[in-house]
Amino acid sequence: MTEQKNISLLQEVTCSNDFGSYFGVSQQTFDTVWKRLTSTDENSVIYISMEIGADPDVFHPVKDFLLKKELTDSTDEHIKGLIDKYLHGPRKIPNYSGGLGVLAGDTLKSFADTHIPVAAVSLLYREGYFSQHVDSQLGQIDHATSWRPEDTPTLFQLHEAGNPERPLEVTVPMFNGDEKATGIKAHVWMKMEIAQDLDYFVPEFLLDYNLPSSPEWVREACRQLYSAKTDLMKANQRRLLGSVVLPVMEKLGLTANTFHLNEQHGVAVTLHLMLRELRNLLGSKFAETVTDENILSAGNKVAQGIVYTIHTPVKAGHDRFDKTLYSKITQKTCRHILNLMAYDDEAPSEYNFTSFAMRVNRAVNSVSRLHRDVTQRQFPKFADKIQAITNGVHLATWASENRSRVFDTSEEVACWRDNPGCFTNTDLLASNDFRQRFRTAWQEDNTLLTEYVNNMLTTHRTQMSETWLEPPNYLSFIEADSFLEPGVYTIGFARRFSTYKRADLIFDDITTLADILVKGNRKINFIFAGKAHPQDEPGKTVIKLILDIQEKLYKESNGLAKLIFIPGYDMEIAKMMVSGSHAWLNSPKRPLEASGTSGMKAAMNGVPNISVMDGWWVEGYHEGQTGWKFGYEGAVEEANLSEDRHTLLYEEDSLSFYNVLPEILHTYYEQPERYLDMAINNLMLNVPIFNTHRMIAEYVRKYDLRLDSKTAEQMSVFRKLYLSEDEKE
Ligand SMILES: *Cc1c(COP(=O)(O)O)cnc(C)c1O
Repeated sequence: MTEQKNISLLQEVTCSNDFGSYFGVSQQTFDTVWKRLTSTDENSVIYISMEIGADPDVFHPVKDFLLKKELTDSTDEHIKGLIDKYLHGPRKIPNYSGGLGVLAGDTLKSFADTHIPVAAVSLLYREGYFSQHVDSQLGQIDHATSWRPEDTPTLFQLHEAGNPERPLEVTVPMFNGDEKATGIKAHVWMKMEIAQDLDYFVPEFLLDYNLPSSPEWVREACRQLYSAKTDLMKANQRRLLGSVVLPVMEKLGLTANTFHLNEQHGVAVTLHLMLRELRNLLGSKFAETVTDENILSAGNKVAQGIVYTIHTPVKAGHDRFDKTLYSKITQKTCRHILNLMAYDDEAPSEYNFTSFAMRVNRAVNSVSRLHRDVTQRQFPKFADKIQAITNGVHLATWASENRSRVFDTSEEVACWRDNPGCFTNTDLLASNDFRQRFRTAWQEDNTLLTEYVNNMLTTHRTQMSETWLEPPNYLSFIEADSFLEPGVYTIGFARRFSTYKRADLIFDDITTLADILVKGNRKINFIFAGKAHPQDEPGKTVIKLILDIQEKLYKESNGLAKLIFIPGYDMEIAKMMVSGSHAWLNSPKRPLEASGTSGMKAAMNGVPNISVMDGWWVEGYHEGQTGWKFGYEGAVEEANLSEDRHTLLYEEDSLSFYNVLPEILHTYYEQPERYLDMAINNLMLNVPIFNTHRMIAEYVRKYDLRLDSKTAEQMSVFRKLYLSEDEKE
């Protein structure tokens, strides 16, 4: 590789502006994006999310570019440093806890791939989300995550215009009971969500409040995602997000008029937009004269720019704060606004931020069709405006490397990276060549997962003598038969350990489960992973339970069943698990899983789901074609919304699982071609729908954007694959 060629290739991926220099797209691309976000003739969108999950280790187009162009070294020290960072640097950004954050990341990637003008705002947590150790005696042990944004590729700290030595600083007005605001400072980092072809990007502005000058209440609130030892700390964490949006836009010159709230966490932005509106209307002394009518009319005006996605029927997902507590962190007009907009008839002493977000918007949507029905029932006052936009996942992120290689080299689906709709090609099922290559890729992915687990078991055995940790897996303690074999039927389960997700459901009656396996002489591996929020004691109990039953299950099944727990669940483990399993299990209590996305990631790899009829599976299940269903599927009544243990239907739903299991095992072991048909049917029926390209196409209709005709046409193609019922034209 000549240095000359290096230099010209590097021009394709280096760029800069007043606030910094970056690596990943060309100057021309950078300027195009920045111009669209700062122009006054074109509208754009600010996407606001408490968490964003987009680890480079599962999707990293710049690294792919460097490898493809063999740009792996340089004599120039600065460039060599950049290349090293992109090829070998840390590839985790621990600013997410689960589905909500991963959805945000996948969404932004699809915006980038399709050139929709969006910028995101979130927080940078110096301790990320907690890290998980697992010990067979103690269960989950949580500890702070340490990571260095400075070393992480695709992440850049912005500096003051023209002064690289000085970090860019925004000042955020915060009220702490007085009429006058205190200015709280934050630094700004930019993570680039870069399109697959490097021809576009979506910037995420991550606000770092952890400065030496920050007061303790600020540093405490921004240290770790969702760490909320007190209600006040939680309220503070929320306002650090919502209150920074307008200041950061002003500092960078962003001109968006549309704001998308990914869950209500950032709804303080609505409050600030209304204050700004009142100031425009009544002048700077508005606080003295403002009336209810003024506020209602400001609300109507501001609503025109807000799109709100509600993500869960579970109570913990919705912020309510005691009015007395909130009076300490607001001023008079804020409270006046909240009294009119965030009241809750059922809890008059609280502000309800879900109600606030429900009231002030141009569009509100749930994350699946069933969830729409549930949300309409939970918020009858707003029922008319609640629509469904079923979630999706970013196809190129979640299709494994082996699967991607097959897709890239198969004529039938050659355009898959740009258009997930190309899987509707029915030739796939019949194409012998495709079938064989796909089957091999799946086997390879299953081997990778098996090897990962086996290496982990070995490492834990060694650790046992070297550390105080007891290995989390029974297999680490036994001598013979202590590894997994590739090809054994493998069921994967991984997600946050919230009690309504019932990770332990299928182990409710181990004797019955073991009997099924012994009778049919069927081997099976269950591979589980997931974190419980450190303050969620019942969730941690479920993890401990999974560890505790491993031995019993193994022994009662005469060694046919092996149950594994992989600690430290993250996106990389998720990708390996969804592609390496033979089936993906989801066993929540219907209808508490609003959507669920890990099952969609499995579907992107053709992997059938075995799932309760909840969330997306109500739409993705095709009898005999895409997987299996089990459990309660009756009408949704008020009583179904309870999260109390005794209402969780363990007995009924586990029995229903035991009833379908023999057929599933029979299909896998005795009818492999039929099992493969199910995988290919997933590609044909579910990939075109449950992807974020289709999802954002539905969102774009809710935004106020002026798209060029090519992009508008592309959006309409994605959307046509799956018009929501209430949108059928
Ligand atoms: C996809 C994903 C989730 C969400 O899984 P659900 O099935 O929606 O609960 C959580 N954590 C990680 C790391 C993921 O990749």
